[in-house]
Amino acid sequence: MDSNFGPGSSHRSPTKALSSLGRRLVLATLLFCLFFTLAMVTWRTWLAWESNLAEMNSELGLIDQVFQDTLAHAIWEMDSESLDKQLNSVANAAPVGRVVLNVLRPGRSPETIERNRYTTGNAGAAPVLQRQLIAQPYLGAHEKVGELTIEGDNQLLWKRLWGEARSIVITQIIQSMLLAGLVMTMFNRLVTIHVVHIARHLGELAPQTLKHHLKLQRSVDRQDELSLLESQVNELQDNLHAHLERQRSDELAIAASRDQLVELVEARTAELRAANQALEALSRHDALTGLANRRHFDELKEIEFRRAVRHHTPLAVLMCDVDFFKIYNDTYGHMNGDQCLQQIAEILRDVFGRSGELVARIGGEEFVVVLPNINAQQAGDAAQRLRIALAERELPHSGSSVSPFVTLSIGVAELDPEAMDHFDQLMQRADQALYRAKHQGRNRVSL
Ligand code: GH3
Ligand code: MG
Ligand code: MG
Repeated sequence: MDSNFGPGSSHRSPTKALSSLGRRLVLATLLFCLFFTLAMVTWRTWLAWESNLAEMNSELGLIDQVFQDTLAHAIWEMDSESLDKQLNSVANAAPVGRVVLNVLRPGRSPETIERNRYTTGNAGAAPVLQRQLIAQPYLGAHEKVGELTIEGDNQLLWKRLWGEARSIVITQIIQSMLLAGLVMTMFNRLVTIHVVHIARHLGELAPQTLKHHLKLQRSVDRQDELSLLESQVNELQDNLHAHLERQRSDELAIAASRDQLVELVEARTAELRAANQALEALSRHDALTGLANRRHFDELKEIEFRRAVRHHTPLAVLMCDVDFFKIYNDTYGHMNGDQCLQQIAEILRDVFGRSGELVARIGGEEFVVVLPNINAQQAGDAAQRLRIALAERELPHSGSSVSPFVTLSIGVAELDPEAMDHFDQLMQRADQALYRAKHQGRNRVSL
């Protein structure tokens, strides 16, 4: 059996490099953090801008509150030295970029005094505060003496904004990096190392290691998707192991029954072969005497005939008939008649036992002998030997009128290749000779 479960198990496409899930997660986190940071920076910078504007506004308001009365007083009193000093103080205050004072005096054209922190001007988004200066020469009197315009310091505003924006960006980036790092570390510790462990375990699985359960290196109290996966993998291994065991025992049982079946088939085949051989023998041999039967004789006679014609060799046939056998049966009974036939068959086998000689029982008490390579004279001699052998046996036959013992009449014929073209003609000649032997007084050989 294979050491592994198949070509697909634990095999990755070699062309594709393994990419880490954790790294992808970190990249996604970083990407999200980047967009989130951008949005947060925009939003927080906008908030900072608003709060800077409000702060500068309140600072300018404070300055205005501090100086409006003294400025109005200095204009009313026409104390230009004090006015100058105060204007300088306003212009030098940190959030102020430019100060413009319009002095209004009755009967005179308005006079404008300007203090600018920068030579290039101070135009921009910084707040501008405009105030009418009212002098109170005595209680309840209000006299408009001028107009004060305080513009916030534009550069200071931007400087403050940049400072804050920078710190916002830096904190957001640090936050994002820390978050990504945390995600990576947690994911690695909680998921990646266990997934790699499971993959290794599955890759090393083989039928003989199915009993080794997957064991994750972490607290057993932790119950989550990974513990579910762990228990499912182990259950799958157990099922697979049980299945393979069943399959193995089934295979053994099948092999055993197959062996049994083979033995059974072999035994049956041997029996069948033996039965076939017996049947074959039965179909070719006479049951009573064991000699060739008529069927076997019919098969062989033409072969012998053609061989003799082809090779120009002599061929002789003896037709033998037991004399007065009907009377024998009547005298000794049919069973004794059978035994008598068996004894005659035995003598026939003894006398004609050479290879090529064929003895067959072709009728009730009629036998035929086919003798290849023998002429009529020699066949006559052989027939005489048979007659003498039977006589020597002295099988009693009280009903016979030619002898006290069982006798045979034998007709002999020889193949005449000129006159005969099949075996039955030779048989006819032998039959005629037998007929003559019977008529000449039985217990004799007729050629
Ligand atoms: P013949 O001298 O002229 O030949 O007289 P036969 O009595 O021998 O001739 P027949 O043809 O009249 O009688 C043959 C007898 O052989 C008749 C039959 O009862 C007997 N016979 C034939 N087959 C068997 C057999 O298988 N067993 C026994 N016991 N007798 C058989
Ligand atoms: Mg007969
Ligand atoms: Mg007879």
